[in-house]
Amino acid sequence: MTFRRDGTKQRSMQSRESLRCRREDRRAVVFAGQRTLTTEVSNAFGCSSASVNRWKSACFTTAEPPKTRRDEPNRLVQFLQKIGPNGSWLVNPYWKCYHSCVYCVAHNQGNTRVWSAPQTVLSTLRRQLRDVPLEESLLLGACADPYPPIEEHLGLTRTILLELRRQKRPLDYVGTKSGLICRDIDVLRDFGAQCSIHISLCSLDDRMLRRLEPGAPAAADRLDAMQRLSQAGLTVVYDCIPWTPTMSDAEAAWAARPPGVRMLFSKLDVKHVLDPSVLKRNYTQKEIDRLYAQAHRRFGDRELVEWEQ
Ligand code: SF4
Repeated sequence: MTFRRDGTKQRSMQSRESLRCRREDRRAVVFAGQRTLTTEVSNAFGCSSASVNRWKSACFTTAEPPKTRRDEPNRLVQFLQKIGPNGSWLVNPYWKCYHSCVYCVAHNQGNTRVWSAPQTVLSTLRRQLRDVPLEESLLLGACADPYPPIEEHLGLTRTILLELRRQKRPLDYVGTKSGLICRDIDVLRDFGAQCSIHISLCSLDDRMLRRLEPGAPAAADRLDAMQRLSQAGLTVVYDCIPWTPTMSDAEAAWAARPPGVRMLFSKLDVKHVLDPSVLKRNYTQKEIDRLYAQAHRRFGDRELVEWEQ
């Protein structure tokens, strides 16, 4: 620091340069709507800072950082896990879910994280699949969306799908909120009609969606994905889940449903809602049950539509 003739402070070239660098550093650490150090991200993903910078531009969101994200590890979610003694196996390419839905039953909100360095995912999958009998079905992305924005660059989900196809594994379910799934239509087709693709969309109102699912794509993107997947001959299910009073309109969802797409309704489980203030008012589970039954009665029973109890 030097001083001008009038006694005011003047920054030297060097300090101006270091200030500029600090500003650039600060800009560079804005990752997925949150301030995160590049080195931390590169450590988490086991990759170079240059790759992180490329991904950051893809993941960068100008939206306010969702207030409901939690970043501590969730021990209930694993890369490959069996559900129930005679149940299926869940495969979760990522261990935190970027969409950060306030109602997440897996309580898995947070910035996307991977289990290990991307280069080792295939060997980890092969090793863990040795314990899975060939006839047992697999469900992809039940605890964390397998298509967060970063998947476009990492391709972990695609790597896993290709390996499951190579091993002729029965894949019964893929659940997502992202249109990025359309990239993998070529692979998904090979799992046949038994593999249903569930696209979740609980409201057609984007304002509501931003409150409920701050990191998830807009309604139009998801409807477009349903249409493209259905046109490609895949079994597509429009999950109007969780059905939420005043936010989910069954008739509007039915009208927006692309032709041939099945529909599934399931009501909100209020005990999982992290921040009840995002709902228009505090509902008790009893009220939700009653309003859900009412909505079902009004809607009636229609072909290709299921209302879960
Ligand atoms: S997309 Fe599913 S797993 Fe991800 S936060 Fe939402 S409810 Fe949870």
